[in-house]
Amino acid sequence: MNPLGVHALVWVGDWSEPSARKAVESTREVGFDILEIPLLDPWSVDAGMTRRLLDDNGLQATCSLGLGRDTDVSSEDPAVVAKGRELLAAAVEAAHGFGATHLCGVLYSMMGKYGAPITPTSRQHCVESMAWLHEQCAQAGIALSLEVVNRYETNVANTAQEMLALIDETGVDIGVHLDSYHMNIEENGLAEPVRETGERFRYLHIGESHRGYLGTGNVDFDQLFGAVREVGYTGPITFESFSSAVVNEDLTPMLALWRNLWTDGKDLATHARAFMAERLAG
Ligand code: MN
Repeated sequence: MNPLGVHALVWVGDWSEPSARKAVESTREVGFDILEIPLLDPWSVDAGMTRRLLDDNGLQATCSLGLGRDTDVSSEDPAVVAKGRELLAAAVEAAHGFGATHLCGVLYSMMGKYGAPITPTSRQHCVESMAWLHEQCAQAGIALSLEVVNRYETNVANTAQEMLALIDETGVDIGVHLDSYHMNIEENGLAEPVRETGERFRYLHIGESHRGYLGTGNVDFDQLFGAVREVGYTGPITFESFSSAVVNEDLTPMLALWRNLWTDGKDLATHARAFMAERLAG
């Protein structure tokens, strides 16, 4: 079975030692293999402390982030692109420091609503930066995948096909990171993107249509997991859920976390792990 994981924001909104401990121990107690740690501010993450906690609890880690307006590598402004690369380089360093296996998320764009379609210059900056990031990750032994997100969170690639085209332009071997929440908004169905990306499909987020309890929204998980089994996908599958119950000052506005969809992260995560394992088994 695929390694199953959970996003740290199910547990905590920051990465101080007590918060990191709570996230790591809770992840282990629920029975997940992976903790996905957000690196929106990689300079604030103590890699040594994180690695010790992970090792003590026998967990693997993956990392994700989205860029901001000031660090958007798809900006037309080379100074903003340079800032974005600084942030991404720090994220790779932090991820490497605590032994993370994967870096994923919206690494190629601002995570937020754009007012216009992407321009040729922006696309060129984005493609060049992803080829550069691929080299950074390869040197650190980290698998890189780019997350396909909906139209309100990027103007670069909203479907798996668009992401494959972007990756082709980079000329390097980068993975596609799919997310059921975004697929449910943009794709024709949930099986097609899994089949179309083939061996490029290397990371999967599981989220409900409202990002709360799995099975209580509109996402057709039977169709999605059917395709995941059919193509023989063996990579990480991590549960992503957000509520105003756990607040992160960077992610709250980025993801529009205004609504309280749950209060008990442990109950939510326990339910999610069982839900995912059941559907994977078929
Ligand atoms: Mn996601």
